[in-house]
Amino acid sequence: MFDTVLIANRGEIALRILRACRAMNIRTVAVHSEADANLRHVELADQALCIGPAAAAKSYLDVSRLLEAAELTNAGAIHPGYGFMSERADFAQAVEKAGLTFIGPTAASIRLMGDKVSAKKAMLEAGVPCVPGSEGALPENPEAIEDIARSVGYPLIVKAAGGGGGRGMRIVREPGQLLQAVATTREEANRAFGNPKLYIERFLENPRHVEIQIMADGQGNAVWLGERDCSMQRRHQKVIEESPAPGIEREAIEQIGQRCVAACVHIGYRGAGTFEFLYEGGEFFFIEMNTRIQVEHPVTELVTGIDLVVEQLRIARGEPLSIRQSDITLRGHAIECRINAEDPWRFTPAPGMVDQWLPPGGPGVRVESHLYSGYRVPSHYDSLVGKILAHGTSRAEAIGRMRQALDEVVLKGIESNIALHRKIMDEPGFCAGGYNIHHLEHLFEQGFGPYTEAQQ
Ligand code: ADP
Repeated sequence: MFDTVLIANRGEIALRILRACRAMNIRTVAVHSEADANLRHVELADQALCIGPAAAAKSYLDVSRLLEAAELTNAGAIHPGYGFMSERADFAQAVEKAGLTFIGPTAASIRLMGDKVSAKKAMLEAGVPCVPGSEGALPENPEAIEDIARSVGYPLIVKAAGGGGGRGMRIVREPGQLLQAVATTREEANRAFGNPKLYIERFLENPRHVEIQIMADGQGNAVWLGERDCSMQRRHQKVIEESPAPGIEREAIEQIGQRCVAACVHIGYRGAGTFEFLYEGGEFFFIEMNTRIQVEHPVTELVTGIDLVVEQLRIARGEPLSIRQSDITLRGHAIECRINAEDPWRFTPAPGMVDQWLPPGGPGVRVESHLYSGYRVPSHYDSLVGKILAHGTSRAEAIGRMRQALDEVVLKGIESNIALHRKIMDEPGFCAGGYNIHHLEHLFEQGFGPYTEAQQ
């Protein structure tokens, strides 16, 4: 059993992991790049170590430096957070081989679910409904590809088996566009993910993105912790998440939740995980599984009252699940707004000096952020600088609290999407709930932006 955790991440999630460790009286080691010496969790950790230059490949993604750091600091376990090393099977394997605990699933589970083709196959076997599509990976032969596409039907979406972060996907509306789309996606998949494997799915026109949070101990016990509706997206990336998903029958969600639990047992899953689904016409279709803690996990924590990162640590310590399915009930409604340091019009990253940061507060408001006044957001990493969450007994109360939180928060010096979130909180489609994954893009097409013309 470990008493020291090395946090192999940065920013808000590193701080979140540190807090969970502290709550459990576990020693923490922060490892950081040269650009990140001024991070909040680096200051708070029991021990901090610089592991390399700003470029992630030479610091946060360098396996030998991370393992060396663990050895030097006597860390018995490594928490990868999300992104970076969190879904790299080879890393999980190297950690275990070094005699340390990887706080996450086994390398075999990461490998199985990290390849979306093998993930879908495993899910079909476990009785989880998937988006109809090609069986296995696409062949090379153009005629064979055309045959598969015809049997799936148009419109369809060509996807990379190793894809992530909304990249490696192309919608094809007519047969004439197919081969070009396959060639471009294959090229991109090779370059971005080092895996040329592709597959085809039916393109669902107006789905919602609804996902199920699960937790399993690898000892045969698993639970599901409600759902999150992540349909507010831009370029296939989540902007706002909420729980419960408005307007979907509880019975349908319970059914899919139970299927996810069965699938966890089927694949011998351990740790936190998320089954992502598209929901259309009253049906759920599995798209992928994330084998890690997600950005939006606090939404679930607010409605269930369960600390998911603490649960991850307990499972990693070899404890059986402390929660039973009957202990889990969803209380009220929670919403999360992702705060990005970005140009509010062009959505390009906007790093720089934070002149002033004043987080909001009050009943039902939670902030997850590493920002402070005088902190410089470096240009080398993801633009997410924090998350503002609101919880209420009803969805309307949660929205009201979120409006106030967004009015209250002060972030000066860098550009952000706070004003965009504030506008969404008043937008009729959002307020009604049940919008689909194209809602935000449609709003932009209609001229919806973070500022009114008068403010420009
Ligand atoms: P990633 O791993 O890059 O996040 P996903 O497979 O999870 O990729 O898909 C991300 C998003 O892309 C979904 O939330 C949805 O908006 C869109 N998408 C993916 N597959 C389909 C599909 N078959 N039909 C319609 N939209 C899809």
